This record gives sequence, C-alpha cells and structure tokens, in this order.
Amino acid sequence: MESETLDTSSIRKIAIIGSGLAGLTAAIMLGRSGHQVRVFEKSRGPGGRLASKRVANGAVDVGAQYFTSRNPAFLKFLEDYAGADRFGPWRGTFGFQKAQEGWQPFPGESRYVGIPRMTAITRGLSEHVELTAQVRIERITRTGARWQLVSTDGKELGEFDQVVITAPPAQTQELLAASGMTQLLSETHAPGGDILPCWAVAVHFLKAPSAPFDAMRPDSDVLYWVANNSSKPGRDDSGQWWVLHATPEWTKANVDTTPETVTNELLTAFRGLTGFSGVPVESVAHRWLYARSASTDQPGFLWDQGQGVGVAGDWLVGGRVEGAWESANRLAEAMQAGE
Ligand code: FAD
Repeated sequence: MESETLDTSSIRKIAIIGSGLAGLTAAIMLGRSGHQVRVFEKSRGPGGRLASKRVANGAVDVGAQYFTSRNPAFLKFLEDYAGADRFGPWRGTFGFQKAQEGWQPFPGESRYVGIPRMTAITRGLSEHVELTAQVRIERITRTGARWQLVSTDGKELGEFDQVVITAPPAQTQELLAASGMTQLLSETHAPGGDILPCWAVAVHFLKAPSAPFDAMRPDSDVLYWVANNSSKPGRDDSGQWWVLHATPEWTKANVDTTPETVTNELLTAFRGLTGFSGVPVESVAHRWLYARSASTDQPGFLWDQGQGVGVAGDWLVGGRVEGAWESANRLAEAMQAGE
C-alpha cells in the first residue's frame, strides 16, 4: 500500500459528504496524503447504491448488481483497501432477449461482485476512514476561511478547509442551493440532468426456477434486469434469491405504487418470462429514485478551488460503479495538485 506524507503546513481538514464508493474513495485518497478527513453519511451505514438488504438468512443485492473494470488501478485500489477476499468474479451466465431472435449470450467479460454481499466492499473501505453515519448534511456555511457543516437537525458538525460532496445530483443540487453556491450548482445541471429511477424487488424461492441465464436483460416493458442472486460467489442461500429490476419507464409510471403491488407486478412479469409458477417464501422491495445516470455530459468531477468545494460521483463519469471510483480519484488528484 502506498502512503504519502505532506509537510504539516499543507495538511487540510476535509469533510466528505456521502459514503458510497465515491465518498469512501475520496476519503482514502486524501487521507493517505496526510489530510484530516471525516465522512458524513445520512444512512445507517456506508455503501450508497452498492446496497444489500438483510433478509432471514443473509443478504440480497438490491442496488448495483456487479461491476466491470477497465482501469486495472481500480481493482488494485479495491484489493489494497477493501481486501482481496471481499470481492471476486461472478462466473454466472449472462444473456439478453431480442424480440425476433430470442435469447442470446452477452459477450464474455469479467464481472465482479462483493463477497458475500455487495456491501462487503464498502464495509472494507470504510475501515480506513472516520465515518459519522445517520447525519444528513443540509448546508455548508462560511466561517472566515473555513466551512461549517450543518445537519438537517441544525447541529454544527465542525469547521473544514475543504468539502467534497458525493451525493446523487438532486441531493447535491439541494445542498449547493441551500449553501448559496450558485456557480457550482449551475455546473451540475447538464451532467445531473438525466437520472433514471428503478423499482427493485428480491424474491426467495425454495425451488429453483428454470431460466435461460443466471442474469438477463429481457425484452420487456416491465423488467429491465432479472438475476439469480444466489449464483454469485459466497452466497450461502437455501433455495434461490432472484432480483428483479423494473424498467425506468415502468418505474416512473409506478413511482407511488405500494411495494406489495410492485412485488406482485414484477413477479407476474417474471412468471411470464420464465414460465415458473413457484410462490416466494420471502420478498423485499426498494425504490431507487436515482439509480443510474443516462447523461452524456461527463466532466469527471467539479472543483471550485477558490471556495475549496468539490463534487464527485458516478453521474460525472458514466453512471457506473467504476465511474464513481474514477470521479473521486480524479477529484482527489486535482485537490492534491491545487488545480
Ligand atoms: P452513491 O452510492 O449514491 O453514494 C452517495 C451517498 O451519499 C449515499 O450513501 C447517500 O446516502 C449519501 N448522501 C446523499 N445526500 C446526503 C446528505 N445530504 N448528507 C449525507 N449523506 C448524503 N453500476 C454498475 O456498474 N453495474 C450495475 O450493475 C449497476 N446496477 C445498478 C442497479 C441499481 C438498481 C442501482 C440503484 C444502481 C446500479 N448501478 C450499477 C450504479 C452504481 O450503483 C453507482 O454507479 C454507484 O454505486 C454510485 O456510487 P456513488 O458513490 O457515486 O453514489
């Protein structure tokens, strides 16, 4: 593991808002250079959209399903900081359906998952940072040359030289607007303009459904993605957990539908797809208002050096897991270089 040191006059106090992959990456990269870094997270624990829900006998992944890696430095970072045993390749079969041609395999590529659940990765990363969870930051305010962080319940959380925001676009925009940061706010509009929602449902069958692939992109108005979560490495399920993601269009039309109805509708579509008539013994549903970015505007990161405030996240680099890492990595480099 590399570590760098700064002369003490260069050490800064830096606050990171959000503990998804982007927030944890920024915290580790800046912390290893000797800065004093604190991470604030509104949820109970780290992970963001690398999300797993606890179920009776373990956990099931309801957010990101897997990740790919174009830059070998990404996997090296995960090995060094999350731990080589906390992720590995998903050796399932992957296919998509075309109206005329039927089912076809996706081209082979390495797909990785957290072991034994997606959140194992962010749990591992969070061991290297100082994290305060269950605190939602409402705004940052100037106190002389520093920034004070203020939570939604009015608490002042400390003064910082610099602040990095890693929330999804709508939440980043709320924060910037409440903090009067109009210039940076205007720069978020193009890359943050097109974030797709997703209803996710996971169902547990005692008898295995027969399906053409372990993970599938069906030709469907309702289902965008269907996967046998139990085919991922390290899952120790009895029976099989299947994850069903609705299409963005169906989710938009059903954004206020109850979780019970959504579960039934996605299950009906799954039965239509596979011909399987089994009844699940357990199910969970999660509504993602901001799941994936479809914006083509990808500045990488945003950094206002004069104010000492930066923005990183997947939506600034292609809307995927590796993009979240890349965005945070690039922002941390720019902050180090004082660009
Ligand atoms: P996030 O993970 O969203 O982290 C932001 C964090 O900020 C969150 O923890 C949030 O709680 C916190 N936060 C927000 N506002 C505040 C505040 N005011 N104060 C404090 N904390 C705050 N990517 C892939 O590569 N492959 C896939 O197969 C894939 N499938 C997906 C399926 C679904 C259903 C979803 C939802 C996403 C999927 N993605 C996939 C996308 C992937 O999950 C994201 O690209 C990545 O996890 C984003 O990381 P991030 O750190 O940028 O943002």
